[in-house]
Amino acid sequence: MQIIEIYRSIQGESSFAGLPCIFVRLAACNLRCTWCDSEYTFTGGKKMPAEEVEREITRLAPGGLVEITGGEPMLQERELVPLMERLLARGYTLLLETSGERPLEKVPMAVHKIVDVKCPGSGEGGSFRLSNLATLTPRDEVKFVLTGRADYEFARNFIREHQLENKAGGVLFSPAFLKEPSRERDSSNCQLDPRLLAEWILEDGLNVRLGLQIHKFIWEPATKGV
Ligand code: SF4
Repeated sequence: MQIIEIYRSIQGESSFAGLPCIFVRLAACNLRCTWCDSEYTFTGGKKMPAEEVEREITRLAPGGLVEITGGEPMLQERELVPLMERLLARGYTLLLETSGERPLEKVPMAVHKIVDVKCPGSGEGGSFRLSNLATLTPRDEVKFVLTGRADYEFARNFIREHQLENKAGGVLFSPAFLKEPSRERDSSNCQLDPRLLAEWILEDGLNVRLGLQIHKFIWEPATKGV
């Protein structure tokens, strides 16, 4: 497998936010989101057999939460799926962060998928694979990263059109961060003011979770490996 980094930190978004978590960050992505904060994953990384990845995870913690992220992890599906099965058999709780563009049928059912639907402001609008909707279960969460009102309306219409609240366990709305954030650990680095987003959600009566990527409020937003 091509691995950028494996480290232990605090889960920053989703319904698992705030929990200690081992992150396995895989290299490469086939999308280019305008607000991407992981461009360092696009190239490079270290070749590691899946068994070595598994050993490193068990060295960091014998159990608990593991998040597979990237880049786009499902580009390495052939080795990743068996690794996820082995980690589940060891009793880990697994999260998979994915762009929603790759097919997700082969992801083991017990994995909690956190699936993006890219909004127009990402520059990758339309990349979501609609057949992935059929793979969603109450374990899974669907995430929209929002740059402004147009993205918000796209997300609101998408969840209504596809009745996402009945398909997934939760829907996340998260403001995009500035491409070049300041060192401030506050919402001044959000492209969309969280207060405005909260007001829109309440006005429209949406049953979604407002997520704030809490790792960017704990550490300086540009910090890698946290
Ligand atoms: S899918 Fe994720 S890693 Fe790929 S460009 Fe978009 S934000 Fe970056």
